[in-house]
This record gives sequence, C-alpha cells and structure tokens, in this order.
Amino acid sequence: MSEQRKFMPNARLDDLLAQLTRAGFQLIGPQLQEGAIVYRPMTSVAELPLGVRDSQAPGRYRAARGEEGGRWFAWANGPQALKPLTFAPREPMWRAVAAEGRLHFAAVLPEMPPTAVIGVRACDLAALAIQDRHFADEPAYQARRRQLLLVAVNCSHPAATCFCASTGDGPAASSGYDLLLDELDEGFVVAAGSEAGAGILALLNLTDADPTQLEEAAALLGRAAAVQQRTLPAGDLAATLFARLDHLRWDEVAQRCLACANCTQVCPTCFCHSHQEVPALDGSHSEHYREWDSCFSEGHSYIHGFKVRPDIRTRYRQWLTHKLGGWQRQFGRSGCVGCGRCITWCPAGIDITEEARAICAGEP
Ligand code: SF4
Ligand code: SF4
Repeated sequence: MSEQRKFMPNARLDDLLAQLTRAGFQLIGPQLQEGAIVYRPMTSVAELPLGVRDSQAPGRYRAARGEEGGRWFAWANGPQALKPLTFAPREPMWRAVAAEGRLHFAAVLPEMPPTAVIGVRACDLAALAIQDRHFADEPAYQARRRQLLLVAVNCSHPAATCFCASTGDGPAASSGYDLLLDELDEGFVVAAGSEAGAGILALLNLTDADPTQLEEAAALLGRAAAVQQRTLPAGDLAATLFARLDHLRWDEVAQRCLACANCTQVCPTCFCHSHQEVPALDGSHSEHYREWDSCFSEGHSYIHGFKVRPDIRTRYRQWLTHKLGGWQRQFGRSGCVGCGRCITWCPAGIDITEEARAICAGEP
C-alpha cells in the first residue's frame, strides 16, 4: 500500500465517520463509560472521549475529562482490546438436535455486520495479528474477523504501565490497519493501509500533509516511545525462563497473586478457553458453548482426576513462561505486545516486567 499521507482537519473527522457509515459499516469507538475507556457502538464524533486523559499504575486506572477541548485520543488504552470483537467471551459453537432416532449437528456461526473500529492502538493490532494465526482455522473467529475495518490511531500518550516500545509493537502502528491517523492539534495525518482504507480516504478528498505536519507526527511518536520506562529483559527469554523453573521468585509472587485471572481477561493475546455442553432437560437438543477461561483458574489444568497445576505458584509460572517463552516456539515471537493491561488491572499490582526481570537476573 502506498504511504501517501493526507491531512484531515479536525472538523472533517465527522466526515470520515459518515463515509464509513455510508459504506455500510457499523461504528465501534472508544467512549468514557463508568470511569473507563471502552469500545462501544457509536454514530458520531460527539461520543468520542474528547479531552479525556488516563492515568495508569500497577493496580490502578483512572480516566476522566480534563480541560475543555483537548484531543480525542490523548489516552493510552482501556481494559478492552479488540479481543472481544473477534473471540467472544462466551458463544455457542454448535447445536445438536435429536430427530428420527439420531442426533443432527449444525455449526453455529456468528452474524456480525461489517464493523469499523475507531481508535485502535498499535499494541492491539500486534495482538490481533497473533490471534489471527492462532484462530486461522476457526470459523467463528474468522466470520467476525472478515467483517472488521480498522482505523488505528498512533499512540501519543502512553500510560506509565505501557512498554510497547520494548516489545517492538508500538507506539507506531506498522501494519494491520486499514486507515492510520496521527492526531495533531489542528487535525490528523491520515494514511491508508489497505484497498478498503484507500477507498474511504479517496472519498474524503484531502490535501497532502505538509512537511511540518509530518515532522510533528514523527516527534509525537518519538516522545511516546521515549517516555516509556518499563522494559522486558533482553535476550532469549524462553531459554532463560525455562532454566529457572525453581527460582524462589515464583514462591514470592504466588504469595501476592490472587489467581483472579484479571490479567488474562484483559490481555489482548491470551486465548485460553473452556467448553461446556448445555443439554435440554428433555433430551431434545443440546448446545455446545465456548467461553474464556484462564490458566489461573483452578479447573483449567484438570485432567483425568488431577490438576496439573494445583497451586498459584505453578499457575503464575505457567502464564509467564508461556507468554514470554513458550510463544516464541509456538508463534516465533513473544506473546506479550507491551500493552501494560495486566499490570494496570491486577488488583495486587503485580508487574510482568518486574517479575520477568527478577526471575531472569543472576544464575539459574
Ligand atoms: S502480558 Fe500484559 S502487557 Fe503483555 S500483552 Fe498481555 S496484558 Fe499486555
Ligand atoms: S497476576 Fe494479578 S491479575 Fe493475574 S491472577 Fe494474579 S492477582 Fe489476578
């Protein structure tokens, strides 16, 4: 896709949304609801979080309107990524009906209209690329994924918990978007990343971004990377972590971890799930459900009468070694995109970067 970058004044943001609606997309965008920025259906610019800023720290999240005006996207992220849009928290997978002396099975596929998501972050695009691979042959995921058009906004205000610069997944979006915006004071630098995005961009009939606007956008991204303080340890994390399975730090973190599974629910790459059969009492039919699960839940490692991971120590160790180590072998990259959500939304304030550093330090 050619990277011809245009400039869209603030007053034209509504036109962009209108063009997407005219093209047949329902809109989903960030909104401030109950103190958090969440993705919700929307119809106009007025619903976007203008002037909202967020403040995040281990175990702490605040989002609130600041001064009058301000920017629409001057916050880092909320508890949701794109995950619930493609991998539903709970959904039927198939249905079985008893008739003529036998069971008839039929797959249940979700019906989702074409959906444009506004304000997608670079870290969440990176997570989506991983989930695309994991669910490559999964019909329900793919049925939803095909319907998405992604309008990304480069991140200019990372939270204190963000470390996407360390994982190489942000703050600039490098691929996976249909349209990409850089928010400046007076408007947006806009680029297309797909044929669909280019089609929408052409309809807006914008002028080229000038060198000053491009420099300003680059400077914002440079600052957004430079202010990030957290990092993951460098080197071969898979080898280092798997050589330290008996490290004392696993016992220490297990004293603090509540096994609440918040970290895995907000993580945009976690995909653990369980299955449940829900039969009718009269035996006439049955539905088979898939729902999000977590490697922190007690039953997730239950196999044939015993739990493979019976305590929090082994469950936390499983999460961290799989996320930062095992995924290297599965997907050729870490399972962490540096969004920082697991740090912010952990009620105990456990910080994956701190734990990884403590476990990797010193001799095995
Ligand atoms: S492990 Fe934590 S920081 Fe990494 S992608 Fe998941 S939620 Fe984000
Ligand atoms: S690390 Fe934090 S969020 Fe994750 S299960 Fe433990 S207490 Fe819950």
